[in-house]
Amino acid sequence: LVSRENHPERSTVHVGGVPIGPGTVTLIAGPCAVETHQQTLAAARMAQAAGAVLLRGGAFKPRTSPYAFQGLGEQGLRILADVRAETGLPIVTEVLDVRDVELVASYADMLQIGTRNMQNFALLQAVGAAGRPVMLKRGMTATIEEWLMAAEYIAQRGNLDIVLCERGVRTFETATRNTLDVSAVPVAQRLSHLPVVVDPSHSGGHRDLVLPLTRAAVAAGADGVIIDVHPQPEQALVDGPQALVEADLGALAQIMTDFPPLL
Ligand code: PEP
Repeated sequence: LVSRENHPERSTVHVGGVPIGPGTVTLIAGPCAVETHQQTLAAARMAQAAGAVLLRGGAFKPRTSPYAFQGLGEQGLRILADVRAETGLPIVTEVLDVRDVELVASYADMLQIGTRNMQNFALLQAVGAAGRPVMLKRGMTATIEEWLMAAEYIAQRGNLDIVLCERGVRTFETATRNTLDVSAVPVAQRLSHLPVVVDPSHSGGHRDLVLPLTRAAVAAGADGVIIDVHPQPEQALVDGPQALVEADLGALAQIMTDFPPLL
């Protein structure tokens, strides 16, 4: 269903009216985690200043340590909905558990499946039936074929509004959080008709890598990028070191306008 063989035209997915697909480079930005209303609104205003048309933000956070901040849950979803009303930005937010799909879908414009859940087949089937577009992140050790098969689980439930997100893969390298597989962009676009975006924040894991990796992603033909921003990253509860700050926004906006989309 997601293969380009039977569907040669590349697809466009609409999220709250915003297109992601060929002919555009969509900027999605926002805080890694929703912490407070004030922090989320400030991050959303930063995102808009850089040209973002969709707001990201996690209310349910998949953390390596069970002692780390796990997200605000439904309270975080309510904050996202309030900030959407204040800014007009549709929301992309992660769902971790089959039991929360209905709840998250009742607030979100797009459901995010994180790298750790790429092969949670029950969750893929549940979001496939949830009536919302889905952003499917590539598993950190998944091949492109496995990633596309995961998308197939969602599509099989009748939902073809799927955006693939390359977010870096595990390699031997420790200087970066993950290694951005830039080649995954044209390869996935050749094999599948689905739009492909890149997450340079979770790939590099360091603020100073985010803009160069954004440039690489857009130059390689990505249909969009999803980027962490935070008004006070030193106080962030999750992933502060990779969040862009106010001073980076001009350069980010410039990258987005410098590269015409590859069709
Ligand atoms: C995120 O985008 O908030 C996130 C946790 O990303 P990933 O699943 O790629 O680690």
